[in-house]
Amino acid sequence: AVVIRGMNKFYSGYQALKEIDLDVALGEKVVICGPSGSGKSTLIRCINRLEEHDGGSIAVFGRELDDRLDNVDAVRREAGMVFQHFNLFPHLTVIDNCMLAPLCVRRLSRRAARERAMACLARVHIADQADKYPGQLSGGQQQRVAIARALCMEPRMILFDEPTSALDPEMISEVLEVMVTLARDGMTMICVTHEMGFARQVADRVVFMADGRVVEQADPARFFSDPATPRARTFLSQLL
Ligand code: ATP
Ligand code: MG
Repeated sequence: AVVIRGMNKFYSGYQALKEIDLDVALGEKVVICGPSGSGKSTLIRCINRLEEHDGGSIAVFGRELDDRLDNVDAVRREAGMVFQHFNLFPHLTVIDNCMLAPLCVRRLSRRAARERAMACLARVHIADQADKYPGQLSGGQQQRVAIARALCMEPRMILFDEPTSALDPEMISEVLEVMVTLARDGMTMICVTHEMGFARQVADRVVFMADGRVVEQADPARFFSDPATPRARTFLSQLL
């Protein structure tokens, strides 16, 4: 689903990503972890071109991400994104948040968009909150709405950037449960997260980043019990 080769990313002279090579297969679930500032967010934002990379290449579902805007549009339709801070539209109700992109981008009828939105909200167990505004919901509920909103575009892949790290502890599991279900349903997922229980449960592979590089890739059982690099060992010991 994703092929990245020799990718670099600079922020006005500062190199945030260095020669990244990464492959994600269709249906695969990849967890990205690593210390703060290691480039995790930058990497997944490059995958749907919320950031432009500098040098090297990224192809998503066979489309090269470059200056061709139709490629970028196609990739954004196929790759949903869920952020740490939900990024819902506060002035729109839950259902309107979910209907917006299907109406504007997919050109569905209002009726079809509404039906799809209700189905997606039901999938994250929150259909009963459809007419509320985001500010009236808990953090866990808002994040589930954000996942439903992504699902409404019928993505082939969802990118998650620390979806639970802004949540109170008691709300983390309700969001992780939804993510586990998506994984079981076969969704291709790339998740930046430090939820190691989730990684052990669903990840096919853990990608460990440090200083803008992919330092280590391993299956979760191996990564957590016996990391190959000192950087990963230090990182894991600090998580406990
Ligand atoms: P965290 O765990 O704190 O979210 P991260 O691994 O997601 O960290 P990034 O946000 O990708 O790290 O940032 C990587 C590096 O790039 C950091 O040094 C950061 O300061 C820098 N950086 C990120 N975004 C920008 C930006 N818009 N402008 C300039 N520098 C940036
Ligand atoms: Mg980040």
